[in-house]
Amino acid sequence: MKIGLTGGIGSGKSTVAQLLADRGAVVIDADAIAREIVKPGETALAEIVNTFGPEVLLPDGTLDRAGLAAVVFADEDARARLDAITHPRIAERGAELIAAAPVDAVVVYDMPLLVEQGAQALRGWDRIVVVDAPDDVRLSRLIQRGLSPDDARRRMVAQASREERLAVADDVIDNGTDLAGLEAQVNELWSRLHLG
Ligand code: ATP
Repeated sequence: MKIGLTGGIGSGKSTVAQLLADRGAVVIDADAIAREIVKPGETALAEIVNTFGPEVLLPDGTLDRAGLAAVVFADEDARARLDAITHPRIAERGAELIAAAPVDAVVVYDMPLLVEQGAQALRGWDRIVVVDAPDDVRLSRLIQRGLSPDDARRRMVAQASREERLAVADDVIDNGTDLAGLEAQVNELWSRLHLG
């Protein structure tokens, strides 16, 4: 069974992914793949340098992620060029990891931008699970995690809205309350997934 797991920044996606992993799911982290495919020696990094210039590298030869993020945040064409380099590789690696999971596994693909990536990304899942929390709750979690209020708000606004995510959800996990409430919902989801 292939589950697409998503949710806005600060919604508690990673926490839910961990709870599902604790229960035996095979969790694949799209963010981790995104970092892997731009490591030194990877062709994606060479293409990024060709496209954006050597100034996107740090002195140690690794990608200056913050610097590149600032470039693409301000320029939609640049963002499209970066996505054209990274997205196919992330999808390919993700598909490899899904294929490598045991046939009877519940595979959870933790993908922050599932909704933002459009129709193609929405296909192929047995279920799409959305972790949801009110914007003010997410904001305060992000601030607690060390983001400035302005930065946290900017990141939230740059993503899909709660409504857009909820519209594609087969299952919604409401993470507007405490961790005990979250765990109860994950238990309920986990047993439902096994009932088919
Ligand atoms: P990001 O998109 O930034 O990776 P995320 O959606 O994966 O965020 P988490 O990292 O799981 O979110 O959670 C954000 C923060 O909120 C973490 O510090 C986490 O410990 C905390 N948190 C998550 N759920 C709850 C909850 N129900 N009650 C209190 N704190 C929570």
